[in-house]
Amino acid sequence: MADQAPLICKDICKTFDKLDVLKGISLETQKGDVVSLIGSSGSGKSTFLRCINLLETPTSGEIIVQGDPIRFAQNRKGERIPANNHQVELIRAKLSMVFQGFNLWSHMTVLENIIEAPIHVLKVPKKEAIERAESYLHKVGIYERKDYYPAQMSGGQQQRAAIARALAMEPDVMLFDEPTSALDPELVGEVLRVMQSLAEEGRTMIVVTHEMAFAKDVSTKVLFLHQGVIEEQGSPTKVFDNPESERMQQFLAPKF
Ligand code: ADP
Ligand code: MG
Repeated sequence: MADQAPLICKDICKTFDKLDVLKGISLETQKGDVVSLIGSSGSGKSTFLRCINLLETPTSGEIIVQGDPIRFAQNRKGERIPANNHQVELIRAKLSMVFQGFNLWSHMTVLENIIEAPIHVLKVPKKEAIERAESYLHKVGIYERKDYYPAQMSGGQQQRAAIARALAMEPDVMLFDEPTSALDPELVGEVLRVMQSLAEEGRTMIVVTHEMAFAKDVSTKVLFLHQGVIEEQGSPTKVFDNPESERMQQFLAPKF
């Protein structure tokens, strides 16, 4: 049997009050896809990622994870909400997210940060959670920092710790929201190299990024969002070398 699509999004819309932020976004991934999501600030990239892992509830549309549709209910005001909290926890484990601002717990060591959710959400025994955490710390190259607190590490090391934390959930899809935007320029490379190695291992990833070289070299698919609509999509070669949409051409044009 062919592999299940790790993630399918059908016609995702999101409205905040009266503001239509996402106006029907669809995306189908295959295992091993690296999807780069690019577009100007305010185009809806973060909102789309946040809808996928239920940090926001899409106003309408379907999300199907490994063949299972996410179930929604309605609250008393008739607004859509996730059907239950347990499902939300599981979805966040299956689709784990790496944020721009690292979001590590400041009062926990790196190792404690990484084992927290596997133990409490996935019910992994502590010993196994520690072994798993240590292997991911090796993978991202900061094993020797495992007993440090986040404030004792550089931004690049903190972001690699956040990636190890996401990996420890053994997710079906990893979501990255501008993971290098908060870093000093000299620290960007070490994080992009870790992400590239994850892509080469065949992990399915959706990456919101302004790093056009990464999007071009590492992605299997590029989506260009403009005002909540996919303006252009396709292979990196098509989108970067041969864009059809004028907005994409403007987006790629040198700014000064
Ligand atoms: P991007 O990540 O592409 O910069 P965002 O998804 O953060 O864009 O934002 C898209 C639009 O949605 C912006 O106009 C933003 O102000 C609006 N928006 C995002 N989150 C909220 C929210 N919680 N409430 C109201 N408006 C929001
Ligand atoms: Mg954003």
